[in-house]
Amino acid sequence: MTENDASAKALAHVDEDRLLELERDLIRIPSTTFEEGEIADYLANYMADLGLEVEMMQVANPKAPGSFTRQPVGRLAGAGGGRSLMLNGHMDPGIEMSGWSVDPYGAKFEDGWIWGMGAHDDKGGIAAMITALAAVMRAGVRLAGDVLVCPVVAHKHGGAGTRALVEAGILADCCINLEHSANTIATACVGIQIALVRTRAPDLFFRYNAEARAAYMNPVEQQAELTRRLGPSLTPIAPDGWLSFEPHPDLPGFPMHCIDIIHKEHYFHPDHTGLSTRECELEFQLRTVPGQTVESIRADLQGLLDAIAADHPAFDAELVIPAPGQEEIWNLAPMLIEKSHPMVVALAEGHALAAGAAPEVSGSGRLGNVGDGNILAAHGVASLQYGPGDIRIYDEWPTPDERVRLSDLVTASKAIAYAIPRICG
Ligand SMILES: [Zn+2]
Repeated sequence: MTENDASAKALAHVDEDRLLELERDLIRIPSTTFEEGEIADYLANYMADLGLEVEMMQVANPKAPGSFTRQPVGRLAGAGGGRSLMLNGHMDPGIEMSGWSVDPYGAKFEDGWIWGMGAHDDKGGIAAMITALAAVMRAGVRLAGDVLVCPVVAHKHGGAGTRALVEAGILADCCINLEHSANTIATACVGIQIALVRTRAPDLFFRYNAEARAAYMNPVEQQAELTRRLGPSLTPIAPDGWLSFEPHPDLPGFPMHCIDIIHKEHYFHPDHTGLSTRECELEFQLRTVPGQTVESIRADLQGLLDAIAADHPAFDAELVIPAPGQEEIWNLAPMLIEKSHPMVVALAEGHALAAGAAPEVSGSGRLGNVGDGNILAAHGVASLQYGPGDIRIYDEWPTPDERVRLSDLVTASKAIAYAIPRICG
């Protein structure tokens, strides 16, 4: 069987009914971040029934020492000599927002749409990837390279599940990271860094002396000056400004920042943070472009703080990046893969056959988003992000009434089924 025959056969074996059934079963099992045990067991059994070797892996919750969740790793061993491929999708859906018009765990299916928590983020992706590999197996295709099937935990906690895979040495030559991209192939994705700036000033009372006043700049006003110089949130950062970067054509508008948290206490009021009255803390995130690193961002931000201090001698700010506690969470390098990479080419061909039109290959379907593929790419695994579901149909994200078209799940599953023999040989 030639590779193309094998791919066409695999595509033809995608079972739409089983795909729908798997997706609905997954939606019915709540699987909040670090509470993925039940869905992990379900998927482990499902993959074992398909004939995969399955191993269950414990993953520690860095937020709660001594507490663990689990994720299955399915493996279809190849005959040897081919590229290995990881299929990676996260089992934990996002935040359950208020305002659902249907049961978020009811898996309603009507007019071609499937509704529920994680319908496309990322249970739809998991259902599509497993159904794709099942099709390859049912088609009788023998692969050279291994396929690893990794439904992971805790994407919404910065990818703790995928970080655990990396730590255990469970890697592959390349990875299709199932993430809702409206079935476009994302070859470029932003990175994310969270920075904390702590400003300080003595706590002056109104009857200050002149010398004390001269050495004083209110900690909140210091942050106000910083936020003024950062520019408005969710607005493209101009090149040749405070941040050094090379704009990437597939990530228009980025890098970008957003102010997330500001904390200041006062001794007349109950304490919420443990900060002293003399301090103010600001946390903001940056979504970065390829070429930016934590070191380059740290240098740029320190330069900005130094420039403020040059104009305001009482400005007293300390920068911490990654922000404390974020070192292994929202600290992700940008992801980039060549559009000519064989995995990208194979998936694009599969998508074109399944959908009847070539897919968009760019950064648009994941613009502003990060996926666990960012983590794998940083560890040498050539990664792309691809999957059914389009967050642009909602007014906000996270959203109530998450939903995905069955036809989009089928397209993704067929595209991946076609790509697997081409990638793994
Ligand atoms: Zn996701």
